[in-house]
Amino acid sequence: MKYTDHHVHTSHSPDSDADVREYIMKAKALGLDFVMFTDHVDFGTTDELFMDHIDYGEYFSTMKKLQEEHGFPVQVGVEIGYERNRKSEIEEFLARHPFDFVIGSIHYGDGMDFYQGDFFDGKDQGEAYLRYFEILQEMVEEFHNYDVIGHLDYITRYGPYKDRFYDYDRFDGILDSILKSLVERDKGIELNTSGMRGPLGTFFPKGEVLGRYRELGGRTITVGSDAHFSQDYYSGIPEAMDQLKALGFETVSSFTARKEKRIRL
Ligand SMILES: [Zn+2]
Ligand SMILES: [Zn+2]
Repeated sequence: MKYTDHHVHTSHSPDSDADVREYIMKAKALGLDFVMFTDHVDFGTTDELFMDHIDYGEYFSTMKKLQEEHGFPVQVGVEIGYERNRKSEIEEFLARHPFDFVIGSIHYGDGMDFYQGDFFDGKDQGEAYLRYFEILQEMVEEFHNYDVIGHLDYITRYGPYKDRFYDYDRFDGILDSILKSLVERDKGIELNTSGMRGPLGTFFPKGEVLGRYRELGGRTITVGSDAHFSQDYYSGIPEAMDQLKALGFETVSSFTARKEKRIRL
């Protein structure tokens, strides 16, 4: 079985114009078993654009129609932007919709935006990264209705710092605590390839984080491109698989109806 890209945005996400049909055709041409979409539903947003959430009644029926039209299986996942003050709304939202797969992501911190940069105002790099990891730790400890954490060290993508990289050792206390919680609760991490297409030239999270997760007993890794354009579909997925193998992982995880299936690498 060829692994399916597990992180894909379509024109239903506020920051993408990508055509669903083009993705389906690409997945079909690649010989995948199915295509998976994970559009944004952000509960932590401070950006007006992201406040309007998708009408999932319509979304599920559109996807079903496209599946029939193309004779190709379409799965519906979601990328939840977590915000602790809206936890009960998130739970209600997830209970209402039969998603195949849920990515839990942090895109905002303390009511501020990483993308616009205000989160970083007045913080040096160490303070900003630590605060981000604290917010992630809160999520991991109090919210359990997701399958994998999205782009775990995504904070490194933003921020006005000269060298955006970090050493695991600098944050090992909090990172270990996040990874241990994940392992205890049988939660996974996604290996997000989008950083390979940006100036950092790296996957999220960095190999050290994945390696430590494995050392602690973690085995659930999904791989996704985080494509917002159909031309980015599947980009970096084979390289990510190679990296997982090099780190000692024997399987990669796929989700259908929120159930994990491990596929040999
Ligand atoms: Zn994201
Ligand atoms: Zn995404």
